[in-house]
Amino acid sequence: MNIILLGPPGAGKGTQAKQISDKYNIPHISTGDIFRKNISEKTELGVKAQGYIDKGLLVPDELTIDIVKDRLSNVDCKNGFLLDGFPRTVKQAEALDLFLEDKEHKIDYALLIKVPESSILERMTGRRVCSKCGASYHIKFNPSKVAGKCDICGSDIIQRKDDSEETVQERLDVYSRQTEPLIDYYTSAKILCAVDGTQDIDVVFENVCDILGR
Ligand code: ADP
Ligand code: ADP
Ligand code: ZN
Repeated sequence: MNIILLGPPGAGKGTQAKQISDKYNIPHISTGDIFRKNISEKTELGVKAQGYIDKGLLVPDELTIDIVKDRLSNVDCKNGFLLDGFPRTVKQAEALDLFLEDKEHKIDYALLIKVPESSILERMTGRRVCSKCGASYHIKFNPSKVAGKCDICGSDIIQRKDDSEETVQERLDVYSRQTEPLIDYYTSAKILCAVDGTQDIDVVFENVCDILGR
């Protein structure tokens, strides 16, 4: 099963992705996580990407598309994959379609997690993430069991630099300008499915499973 997750920053893509990946046994590929790993390891890609990410802007398509193609060429993707945070532009979506077409594959579901802009700021500024495995927590809605430590791997939980109030506003603008057009793109392709992302995390996941099959 090949799935992509769509939705504004803070919609809960990463949170749902972890559960979907476990249940359906497909790798969770987050371009944000890939960039952050490269930034912490100070690779050439990380150095190039950091300036954009810190400002809340998208990393250019030329850098992003090849990374995803590489990752999807890995053997662990042959029975399916879950893309979280890619595509974010129509150009990325077209490149992904061409790449999959070449391999006689396609996307089965474009899953849109819908959350109104009014809820996003609280979600984003209260978000905390594991510095090692990327798991997402929230100080109010989804706190870790032990304060400051990841439930999954025990590493320290931190706040992302780009989750500050000013950067979040920029990211929301970028989303509506550059990423929202993908909703039409995948509606035309007849693979868009939407879930109400304002419900509790477990309820959202139940709705997702209703769509994907159990
Ligand atoms: P995204 O990957 O779409 O940016 P995350 O999964 O990181 O979003 O979630 C953003 C923040 O909102 C996190 O702090 C997360 O714990 C919290 N969150 C995720 N889903 C829900 C939900 N259904 N209700 C309340 N808070 C949520
Ligand atoms: P969020 O949790 O808000 O959805 P991500 O972790 O997916 O954020 O991405 C963090 C940042 O990494 C983005 O704001 C953007 O700068 C960069 N990024 C991630 N994925 C892409 C992509 N597909 N194209 C361009 N930039 C990206
Ligand atoms: Zn962790």
